[in-house]
Amino acid sequence: MQRIIFHVDMDAFFAAIEQRDNPKLRGKPVIVGGTGKRGVVATASYEARVFGVGSAMPSIQAKERCPHGIFVPPRMSVYGQVSKEIMQIFGHFSPLVEPLSIDEAFLDLSGTEKLFGPPQKTAKRLQEEVFKATKLTCSVGIAENKFLAKLCSEMNKPKGITNFLFSNIPEKLKPLPLNKLWGVGPKTLKKLNALNLKTFGDIQRSDEETMVEHFGAHGQKLFHLAYGRDEREVTPGEGQKSIGSEMTLSEDIQGTKEVTKYIRRQCNEVAKELRKKGLRGRGVRVKIRYTQGFITKTTQKTLESGLQDSTSIFDIAKQLLARLDLNKPMRLVGVTAFELTQEQEQGQMSLLDKNSKQERREKLEALSDKIEAKFGKGVMLPPGA
Ligand SMILES: [Mg+2]
Repeated sequence: MQRIIFHVDMDAFFAAIEQRDNPKLRGKPVIVGGTGKRGVVATASYEARVFGVGSAMPSIQAKERCPHGIFVPPRMSVYGQVSKEIMQIFGHFSPLVEPLSIDEAFLDLSGTEKLFGPPQKTAKRLQEEVFKATKLTCSVGIAENKFLAKLCSEMNKPKGITNFLFSNIPEKLKPLPLNKLWGVGPKTLKKLNALNLKTFGDIQRSDEETMVEHFGAHGQKLFHLAYGRDEREVTPGEGQKSIGSEMTLSEDIQGTKEVTKYIRRQCNEVAKELRKKGLRGRGVRVKIRYTQGFITKTTQKTLESGLQDSTSIFDIAKQLLARLDLNKPMRLVGVTAFELTQEQEQGQMSLLDKNSKQERREKLEALSDKIEAKFGKGVMLPPGA
């Protein structure tokens, strides 16, 4: 049976919500993001994109390119609410909805043609329903697998419907640059380019063995993706909500120093698990339980960008601990990362300053993972372990 996968992606999500909620911003270059020295653009409206403003760009640079741009601070809780609404609407079209980030999801519509009619029409109806409920527009990619659906949803933004079903996929993919290939980050891209591989076509013309030789198992995946082959299922359950580490202690602990020691170790565990699963946490939560009365306290913080290194998570956890009374005996401490996003799929959520401390930490810790995998545990411990 032919698979029919939709990738639905909201158009300039954060900026569109701001324009919807404030008529004065409509038709204007709106830039949602931080305005501080190290502020980064989360989303720019299409009016701002014309000036070359894009997601993850330092706000200072955005200001240079678009001096009359209107900066608006993000309202994450509002965006989260709208996200719930749109995901619910997606659910009207398929029971198999896999959210990929706050404003995009995969839908498996295989076998629904009898119910809904041709996919093209279904996509149109979905756009209409989303607009009716939220006054926001989205773009839809239709293809036989997830990779292709995601690839084509962004080809005709905004309000686009791009259908890759029944086309000569390898031929269509040939001219595309390799940053469009799933799982290719800056590091892999550099390595590919060094091998004189610049387009999908270049990888198609190379061979599987060569790719495996240079990139291991990942190379095999890249080779198949370059032909548009992707077997992954749309799995609604896969959207893991959180990754946490908590521990009921054999003996009570008390005092900031003591608690911090445990929390540090737990941040290491959480970060490691995030990296293993290729996820980032946009939220950090700290939990403690007092021995007396069995009272549990949690405190949390949501961030603009996702974290996956232990030091950054620990920095947040320390801030959270400062809000709690740690001078009473405790029997449980824990750290959780929540609002998980997929590493490669950050898209507009990627607010990471490319030269930041955070990136250096991530690189260092990823390296330590590798060393540990090769030589065993305890050879190299993350900082503070
Ligand atoms: Mg989007």
